[in-house]
Amino acid sequence: MSVVSIVKTNGKVEEGVKKAVELAGGIDIDSGETVLIKPNLCCAKPSGSGVVTNLEVISAMVKVVKDIGGKPIVGDLPIVGWDPQETYKTIGVKRVVEKAGGQFVDLSNDEPVTIQIPDATKLKNVKLARTALTADAIISLPVFKAHFFTGLTLSIKNLKGLTWQDQRQRMHVMGLFEPIVDLFSALRSKVVFGLIDGTVGCESIKPSGPYYGPTEGKPIKLDTIIAGKDIVAVDSVAAVTAGIKPKSMKLLKIAYERGLGEIENIEVRGERVKPQKLKQTLFGRIMGSLNSVWTSRIANPITHPLVKRLFGPQIESRRTAEKELEKVIPSRIVLTGECKEGCTICFDACKIGNIKLGKKGPIIGEKCLGCLICVEACPVQALVVKRFEEVSA
Ligand code: SF4
Ligand code: SF4
Repeated sequence: MSVVSIVKTNGKVEEGVKKAVELAGGIDIDSGETVLIKPNLCCAKPSGSGVVTNLEVISAMVKVVKDIGGKPIVGDLPIVGWDPQETYKTIGVKRVVEKAGGQFVDLSNDEPVTIQIPDATKLKNVKLARTALTADAIISLPVFKAHFFTGLTLSIKNLKGLTWQDQRQRMHVMGLFEPIVDLFSALRSKVVFGLIDGTVGCESIKPSGPYYGPTEGKPIKLDTIIAGKDIVAVDSVAAVTAGIKPKSMKLLKIAYERGLGEIENIEVRGERVKPQKLKQTLFGRIMGSLNSVWTSRIANPITHPLVKRLFGPQIESRRTAEKELEKVIPSRIVLTGECKEGCTICFDACKIGNIKLGKKGPIIGEKCLGCLICVEACPVQALVVKRFEEVSA
């Protein structure tokens, strides 16, 4: 059985991180071992935005590792299109890590190393930052964040930041889920702990609107830390606290089926928290319950026509919604909102040169691979994937 801790921080982040580690049974590292702490530093957004891991959590984890006798190093590579140095500088991570007694490593200065993954189902080899391979142990330190493609982005997906930036599009095109689990399987023996920073999380998806990338979102104060040695279990518990069944999350289901961790047989220690994705009114709670009934696999084919009549044609059936993201065509990637002047992030992010920069913003060409890296990278949610119905209307 896997053990996962949940701790409410109530503003005392360092205390909360230490308690969460303790309740989860500590971290299995030997004295003198080099421990790579891998936060989510995906883009140049400040600590506390819910988009990147909170600096207080990073600092606390550095201290925890030091106290155990390990040598903490901290590093991550941002999303394609985001300049690593600008990202680290905006977040202010180096100073905080050094103050806590750790070493910050700019992974973009690493030498990339290609490893083979013999048991992989899709990602047979992958190029990683060398530090990920030379470290004795890895701690995944993601922020509790929604993701337009994978539902939530937590400890397992966080490991993708250790891949060289030119691997990201490749992983998206391969279907993202299996390749991420392949990557995890390759690093699993080193990944000794996962701790989810739920001090401030964020939502980056609108259920009935377009899909936004994970570099922007609505911050949600959760004051929660979730931690454990089995990161599949850690992510599963986090999913439950967000009102999501772990088995309905493709990434967790695949990892579980491949024997990489637990999604059901978990002992939760610490505080029991109710699903806390949103603070809801009574009306909201009733609507939430109704929502889970009408979206269930069995009831949806019957209830969907009625719900659509009541709430409008933008309401998708479950089947359509599931299929939607599997089929991206260029005409569905569109510019809404205002394109940031002088920004070339999506242009730089598209490695096949399928984006031209026009006067009013990017123009998506016809050779699109559907990797959605450009949507993921846009810092102001200007680039989105439109729903099928909006495209055909
Ligand atoms: S334009 Fe197409 S191929 Fe290029 S990054 Fe966007 S989704 Fe990927
Ligand atoms: S759509 Fe505009 S703001 Fe968004 S990444 Fe592209 S150039 Fe930047």
